[in-house]
Amino acid sequence: MSRSVLVTGGNRGIGLAIARAFVDAGDKVAITYRSGDPAELEKAGVLPVKCDITDTEQVEQAYKEIEEKHGPVEVLVANAGVTKDQLLMRMSEEDFTSVLDTNLTGTFRVVKRANRGMLRAKKGRVVLISSVVGLLGSAGQANYAASKAGLVGFARSLARELGSRNITFNVVAPGFVDTDMTQVLTDDQRKGIVAQVPLGRYAQPEEIAAAVKFLASDDASYITGAVIPVDGGLGMGH
Ligand code: NDP
Repeated sequence: MSRSVLVTGGNRGIGLAIARAFVDAGDKVAITYRSGDPAELEKAGVLPVKCDITDTEQVEQAYKEIEEKHGPVEVLVANAGVTKDQLLMRMSEEDFTSVLDTNLTGTFRVVKRANRGMLRAKKGRVVLISSVVGLLGSAGQANYAASKAGLVGFARSLARELGSRNITFNVVAPGFVDTDMTQVLTDDQRKGIVAQVPLGRYAQPEEIAAAVKFLASDDASYITGAVIPVDGGLGMGH
């Protein structure tokens, strides 16, 4: 059965791998993008919708376009996220609030809007992309880690609030993944990280996509409020 799927930040990195996994399964997949060439994205079989998730009006317009072309969103993957790393001493309030505004409040905006259609349909699947550092902590990433930890409380509250409406809320917490986001790390930093990972390597975006696809599938019908680590064992025990 072909579902209407939305992946935020599906134009590159982990989001694009997730979008491709749903396209391969035969779903109708919309993605949000700010950068990149929409014509290229269309070749990947997705509907590119321009949207900055820090802007409520753009979120509203994106949903209207998706609803017109694919119908109400049945599966939402809130993947868009940013980092602005800095030690606390040097972290400006703007560095803190802007990361929260994208990663946490941005997720609130897209989830709240998706909920409208899901309540009407009496079903829905929501998967939030957090991070291993949300629960582990990470020096220089207080803003990012706070936003990613916030997603866990957010998802678990909604799992309780909307479980009776047959809407599930789950979190995937990736470890280090080979994407633009981790390209900024130096070779020494990469070596240091890999040394901490039991599987001894970074993840490929497709390995995150596989967990997301599972949580949105019928096989995961009784899973809600879960945090699924896909981190090569880095966060074991949390
Ligand atoms: P990238 O930096 O490669 O991509 C980030 C994506 O988020 C882009 O599609 C970007 O769109 C989108 N985005 C950022 N800000 C906004 C915004 N305001 N509105 C709409 N879209 C926005 O990151 P990854 O693919 O690596 O990361 C994807 C998710 O996975 C993020 O939430 C990240 O925190 C999380 N994650 C990543 C890990 C990693 O090691 N890479 C580890 C753990 C979690 P645009 O192209 O327009 O900028």
